Amino acid sequence: MKGRNGCCTNSLESKIKSLIEKRGKITFRELLKEVNISTEELEDFLVPLLGEGTIEGRLELHCPDCGADLGSFKQYKDIPSENECEICGHSFPTSEDYLDILLEVKGKFFRG
Ligand SMILES: [Zn+2]
Repeated sequence: MKGRNGCCTNSLESKIKSLIEKRGKITFRELLKEVNISTEELEDFLVPLLGEGTIEGRLELHCPDCGADLGSFKQYKDIPSENECEICGHSFPTSEDYLDILLEVKGKFFRG
C-alpha cells in the first residue's frame, strides 16, 4: 500500500507558498528554478491563487539589449507589439523571452 495520495503535493504547496511569502515577490522563472517542476504544473498551482487574489501576477518587460525595465503590464494584450527602449533606443517586437511574470503576495497564505 502506498501512502495517501496528495502528501507530496501538499509539501510542494507549502514550499511554493513559503518561497513567495518570504520574498514578497518572485518571478515565475525564479520560482520554477527553485521548485523543480514543469511549467504546466506550476501554472496549474498558481492559477487558483491568482483567481482568489492571494497573489497578483504582472508582466514585466525588459529591453533585450540593455536589460532596462520598460514597465509592467496587467495582461499580455496590454503590451504594445513593438517596443522601443527609452535607455538605448533599441526597437524590438514583444516576445515572451523579454517578459518576466512577477508574482506578488496580496493576501496571507497562512493563518495566524
Ligand atoms: Zn535598452
